[in-house]
Amino acid sequence: MRKIVLAVALLTLLVLPLTIHASSQSAERFKVVWISVDSANYYRLFNFSREGSLPTFKRLFEEGAHGPMTVIYPPATAVSHASLSTGAHPIRTGISGNTMHLPNTSITATVSGFDGRHLLAEPIWMTVNRSGLRAAVVSFPQSTPPAWRVDSSRVKLFNIYDASITGVTPSTLYTNNRAISGATLVTITDARNWTGLGSLGTVSRAWEFNFTLGDSRWFVLIADNTGDGRPDVAAIVAGAKDASRALTVLREGQWSRPLNTTIVRGGSTFTIAPMFKLIKIDVSDFRLYRGIARPMEAAWYNDPALARGVWNNVVVRVGAFTDGDWFALTRGWIDVETYMETVNFTNTFFREFTLYVMRNTQWDLLMTYTPVVDNVYHQFLGMLYRNMPYYRADQEAYYRGLILRTYRMVDEFVKAVIDSVDLRNTVVVVSSDHGQCPVKSIINVNAVLYNAGLLSVRGGAIAANETRAIFFSQGNVYVNLAGRETGGIVRPEEYDRVVDSIVRAFQALRDPSTGEQVFDVVMTRAQAVTLGVGGPTAGDVIIATKCGYTTTGGVPSIVNGTAVVFSPAVPLRTLVADHSSVMPTYPDLHATVIFFGGPVKRGFLGLSSSLSIAPTIAELLGIPRPRDAEAVPLAIREAMTVTQTATVTQVRTTTVDRTVTSTVERTVTNTQTVERTKTETQVRTTEVPVTKVVTSLLERTTTTVERELRTDLLAIAALIALLLGAAVGFVLRR
Ligand SMILES: [Zn+2]
Repeated sequence: MRKIVLAVALLTLLVLPLTIHASSQSAERFKVVWISVDSANYYRLFNFSREGSLPTFKRLFEEGAHGPMTVIYPPATAVSHASLSTGAHPIRTGISGNTMHLPNTSITATVSGFDGRHLLAEPIWMTVNRSGLRAAVVSFPQSTPPAWRVDSSRVKLFNIYDASITGVTPSTLYTNNRAISGATLVTITDARNWTGLGSLGTVSRAWEFNFTLGDSRWFVLIADNTGDGRPDVAAIVAGAKDASRALTVLREGQWSRPLNTTIVRGGSTFTIAPMFKLIKIDVSDFRLYRGIARPMEAAWYNDPALARGVWNNVVVRVGAFTDGDWFALTRGWIDVETYMETVNFTNTFFREFTLYVMRNTQWDLLMTYTPVVDNVYHQFLGMLYRNMPYYRADQEAYYRGLILRTYRMVDEFVKAVIDSVDLRNTVVVVSSDHGQCPVKSIINVNAVLYNAGLLSVRGGAIAANETRAIFFSQGNVYVNLAGRETGGIVRPEEYDRVVDSIVRAFQALRDPSTGEQVFDVVMTRAQAVTLGVGGPTAGDVIIATKCGYTTTGGVPSIVNGTAVVFSPAVPLRTLVADHSSVMPTYPDLHATVIFFGGPVKRGFLGLSSSLSIAPTIAELLGIPRPRDAEAVPLAIREAMTVTQTATVTQVRTTTVDRTVTSTVERTVTNTQTVERTKTETQVRTTEVPVTKVVTSLLERTTTTVERELRTDLLAIAALIALLLGAAVGFVLRR
């Protein structure tokens, strides 16, 4: 009986938004700016705003329509953004991981899920294109290279993450300290044959070293100009030992401006604008940090003149950091405060890039992105959780402050956007692609496969011709199947047995320190269809860890014949929070969605699905939904609190006590699984302290609900719900 009540409640919820929505169609069109704030968890953002720390978000929460949002599995950045931009599950988008393996390639070969050529479902900028409107995509995964025929006069596409030069783009530390891992080692000698020293003032002693960027040689002169025998400044010069042509002269602790210049590599000339920081000016332990150096000349845009404008007006002014430099932080090249400077440079770059494109192009839809919350969560979020083994009470406030500082940067970004648009005809959408869970332990999935005899390591590399199954990232374990993988070794008749042994290896895995099972989900590809996962890019086995763990691929290290499966998360040396391989049903993983401006009515949207965002934006633009979209628009122009409050009330009165694992293991249809997972999550939400604020918000909404639902709608809804409810109740009982 309880199940039937639940089914009726759920179906009522399914039907009501549809009927209310149907009465709210409007011919009015709005412009839309869509800002994706990678990793912004709704509850943390909401709580920071309530504390008064984030004035712009406070305004958005008070005047906009907002709520937490569940995303697809695996909740990895490339996968989730593909579903956000298309409104479709990974089985339709073809993006099933940040790193994916394709059929008809060697089992060890991968492609990037950020690459637009692998996006199979229609993204909303293409819907805009075929509807005759104009779009500008400043930054969004899969926006380049364009997989779709796009009219570049009306749809401007950028993705600066695609601009890179091997051996030049990654950041580095120039040092003569051999103890620092992964740095560029240099040799410092007395300076010889320099000219233009007068430009540095009095130079009583000088040292030098050099390094290459591509095929170009750069020189650094280190000078003592106080006569105390110790160095005071370092001058960076490209191409010649002429101090008067220094691109920058730095003292210890100083940053350079972006050094806009050209280098040669492989006979081609590239424009770059790297920023340097002089970390330590000590001739026996010299440390000069160079930030990431992305080139202008690369396929990261579809309008060369506009890209040149971005370079000359944005990059040369604020640089082009595209992530807080965790690579440098975890290798000990830079300290936490310098890392936070790179986080700030990154947010500033995306903010200024966005404003430039907003002001210099015609657009109906403008999409943009900032990675900074994701950056600081990976490095610091775990330090806020008392149940993490590395937790230190005396450090919690500091790391929480770093995360708040980052949200403030994003708050300024959003404010700058809001201040640049006319809110009467423009809707600003802020959303995220997932949250993050703290991590205590990192699981090398290939080590599990090795120990089960399914993966082979020879000479420090995974031996493709002896490997039956492999893992790269984000939940997908691929079988090396003959006839599908190039050089595949698992015969078709062995496939089921190999899949079964993979499943059993993961199900048997226990955390040696606690004895607990570490996976929430271990499913075959066929079972995973209920999660919206599948198609040729998905794994043959799909796994998801519990919150508290994350996964890694790569070559496992083998000690006495056994591969090492677990390694501890270590603050400032590894990540301490992650998202890509846990179920998006954890409240920590809940993303954010906020609509603000235009016709949007203030209110709480309840827990929505990330598949609803593109259809909602399409409706605001007055265009059809993206071709592959699976969801209906959110009722953001109505007093949506009526339906959403009903949702919460009904769920509270029916106790749902199923775990997510049992839900997904049942063979039910796709829609039913998604709806039930959503419900389950809402119940959990009320149990988590961080969500208390939202719970109280919900309770307040309940008391002020306007019961104005038209009786005919209710009658129709109830009738349909009763009929379908009985059917679903029957399915659930089986
Ligand atoms: Zn992300």
